[in-house]
Amino acid sequence: MEWTLVLDWAQQGKLPALRRLFEEGVHMELASTAAQLPDTVWPAIYAGANPGRLAKYFYAQYDAARGDLRMLSDDVIGATSFWKILSEAGRRVCVVDIPKSPVIGPINGISIANWGSHGSRSAYTAHPPGLLKEIGSRFGRHPVGHCDAGGGDTKSLRELRRRLLAGAELRGQLCRFLMQRENWDVFFAGFSETHCAGHHFWHLLDATHPRHDPADTSGLRDTIESIYRAVDQQVGELIDLAGSETRCLLFSGHGMGPIWHASWNLQEILDRLGFGQPGVNAVPERERTNARVNPWRLLKMKVPGRLQYAVKAMLPQRLQNELVFRWYAGARNWAGCRAIAVPNNDSTGAIRILVKGRDRHGVVAPGHEYRKTCESIAAALGELVDPQTGRKAARQVTLTYEEFEGRFLDQLPDLTVLWDQRFAWDEVASPRIGNLKIRRQDSRSGSHTPCGFLLARGYGASPVVTGPQATIYDIAPTVLRAAEVNMPDMDGRALFY
Ligand SMILES: [Zn+2]
Repeated sequence: MEWTLVLDWAQQGKLPALRRLFEEGVHMELASTAAQLPDTVWPAIYAGANPGRLAKYFYAQYDAARGDLRMLSDDVIGATSFWKILSEAGRRVCVVDIPKSPVIGPINGISIANWGSHGSRSAYTAHPPGLLKEIGSRFGRHPVGHCDAGGGDTKSLRELRRRLLAGAELRGQLCRFLMQRENWDVFFAGFSETHCAGHHFWHLLDATHPRHDPADTSGLRDTIESIYRAVDQQVGELIDLAGSETRCLLFSGHGMGPIWHASWNLQEILDRLGFGQPGVNAVPERERTNARVNPWRLLKMKVPGRLQYAVKAMLPQRLQNELVFRWYAGARNWAGCRAIAVPNNDSTGAIRILVKGRDRHGVVAPGHEYRKTCESIAAALGELVDPQTGRKAARQVTLTYEEFEGRFLDQLPDLTVLWDQRFAWDEVASPRIGNLKIRRQDSRSGSHTPCGFLLARGYGASPVVTGPQATIYDIAPTVLRAAEVNMPDMDGRALFY
């Protein structure tokens, strides 16, 4: 859920359950790893761990030893979820459809993974295993499946809207059915519908979007609002069912907004800055030039999602992976580069420095030269502006070794760039790279934004807000504290005394 929309719509009375949480409890914004590595948001939430402690930061990930990309499932995340800790401490827990969850092991209670979560990379599993059959006969599967598997035309969007609304309702029914089975210590459920709606319907909501239709000929303009309202209704019923004595946390690990970025042209920008292969696009051109286009991305935009998924399913796994790699990185001849663009979620570009002794094609010396290279790229990204408005294109550049720590730090991208999604732009310029006109290469109109939020009822009126800002790492410690279970080594802190 997008925080700015939640604030507006709760205030206008359109989200009565959330409004009640505002009135009866406390609320706060949460800093999020969506500012750097959006795919790590959910594991960061459920394990209270920063991306340096996660074995996976993205599903198509750069592999330093092979000097190529590899695919990773959610099963390798390698961090312990708070429900496992609760379960081992003897608490009865029910966990329903949390995104980016690995296959479920035995748990003291019930757990369902990948029933209808967005973008999952693991199997549909449950504990106890017999539960799958029961859920199958009572509820079936979530009606959306892969939300990218439709098309961007009005007919497909109308169908997606119908399925998202039906999915929110069915999810609510499933949650109430499970909540009523026993008196749980902790009940934890994820709603994915607001996320999918943000990806696919943003241009219909956002009057500043170039694809916005002020006449609303499709009649779909209110889709995001309708889905937020549908989820609000289900959440309200769950809170009522839990009872007024039950402590309640509602949160979103990041927001949603329009999709403005230069991630698909990041390698070209690095080339122009002189960090690519010697001689390749290294000379800045003063004239306005069109940025390179990845034909695989254009193909992905042109071919209807349904057909893409059908064709992909017929290919052997190796070719499926190769297709994904080409969508993200195009050609991958990286020998001779000092810095390369590596896959990450669209709204945040990611860069790897090829370091001697660490990366297969390493050319940059570790230590001083490495740091100088990172700082120089960060400075160059900070210079990029949209020549139409003069506004900076990069909102936040992160040197990951300054932001994160842990045993997997070495495999993370060295820099990430969060592009500014707060205004429409399709051109970047600086004295060093010249002027680059970017062609849109995304089928979605919305993407992740870095601000999460939390509403809490029954935790008392005094959150721990004296320290630095609350983050998504704080959620797992907060739940453990409320359940009176000791917190293992985590990056967050309990937000309430
Ligand atoms: Zn997403």
